Amino acid sequence: MHRLATDLFPLHRSISGEGVRQTLRSVSQQIPLTIHEVPTGTQVFDWTIPQEWRLRDAFIADAAGTRIVDVRNSNLHIVNYSQPVNATLSGDALRPFLHTLPERPHAIPYRTTYFRDQWGFCVDADQYQQLVDGGPWQVVIDADFFDGSLTMGDLEIRGSSARTVLFHSHTCHPSLANDNLSGMVVATALAEYLRTCSTRLSYRFVFAPATIGAIAWLAQQPQDRLQKIDHGLVLSLLGDSAEFTYKQTRSESATIDRLVPRVLDDLKLPYRVRAFSPDGYDERQYGSPGINLNVGRISRSEHSQFPQYHTSDDNLQFISPESLAQSLQVMLAIVAGLENNRYPINRFPFGEPQLGRHGIYRSFGTHDDRGRLQEAMLWVLNLGDGRNDLLAIAQRSRLPWSDLCRAVDLLGQHELIELCDHPVCDNK
Ligand code: ZN
Repeated sequence: MHRLATDLFPLHRSISGEGVRQTLRSVSQQIPLTIHEVPTGTQVFDWTIPQEWRLRDAFIADAAGTRIVDVRNSNLHIVNYSQPVNATLSGDALRPFLHTLPERPHAIPYRTTYFRDQWGFCVDADQYQQLVDGGPWQVVIDADFFDGSLTMGDLEIRGSSARTVLFHSHTCHPSLANDNLSGMVVATALAEYLRTCSTRLSYRFVFAPATIGAIAWLAQQPQDRLQKIDHGLVLSLLGDSAEFTYKQTRSESATIDRLVPRVLDDLKLPYRVRAFSPDGYDERQYGSPGINLNVGRISRSEHSQFPQYHTSDDNLQFISPESLAQSLQVMLAIVAGLENNRYPINRFPFGEPQLGRHGIYRSFGTHDDRGRLQEAMLWVLNLGDGRNDLLAIAQRSRLPWSDLCRAVDLLGQHELIELCDHPVCDNK
């Protein structure tokens, strides 16, 4: 995952253009993405796909032609989607077009000017001082805008059921590692793994530019396909060493809202839960009232809450293979939880079944914790009325998820329970 992030890091991504295309081509070498190009001018819900931005060069140079700021050194130097400029400006005249971080003087900030016709440069504090004190400066942004397309990729992995789990990561940030490469590489590794499994549920992975990309993807989905998405997660900021953060879905009581904390508890990993709010990443598109899908978000640090956020310090040293691996481990446990989370129905609900008669105890031989396993079986049989999923049983019984899964397996093998994908209606 870190190697893929390293390959993708230098690409000059934006909400459209070759940087995103090259990024998706690299990801496609690991998982077979379907690439979608949405032409400029296409109406997607309340938005219109903008013109594509093509940057050839950008710099600020002194009278001798020496470049003080050069986009070839860092693609964060140019405000993303800047208008073309070719001018000679004094330090004072240049000042309003410079962005810097006084509280983090060595770093270059990341700024965009999407949907606004502006331009600017992002510089460290030393460059800023030199530029505003000096001049005249030759200021060049060799860019153009043209009718092109917005690029996104998706992948479907079919399970035995059409009920679907969605994973989304945004793809539009240039040379920032935690904010957005970490989400992309964890999603890629997860998809690569799931392609080797036979699963009950189906899985969809979406790689799209933030906001406009998620909206474009949603606008292109037939309603019946969206309705198959039962659970989803936005993956972002998964490469740093902070504890996990789970942001709830709009409903705040979806299966995924109950599952993720349970998984993190079972893995004994510290975490924070955040209530839904209509900001952050693309969970807010999935959670818009007309879409209303149960899509939460999993991160480590939270956006705008860590000092490296949207600066050149969010680099490949800020994310580690170990943190990425642990994030992937959490994702695999979430998938296992979703696969296992069904509604058991006790086939012998009148009184307690006579477990010995069903040969249950003979199967116990290999288990060294028979007491706990028996307790788990009794909970599954008792709450197995078709209205409680395994998560609800885990919450009521306070038993480890793994014990309950084993109890369900054993009871299923001996035909004491059936498993339903959905709650059984209460006819009373
Ligand atoms: Zn961001």
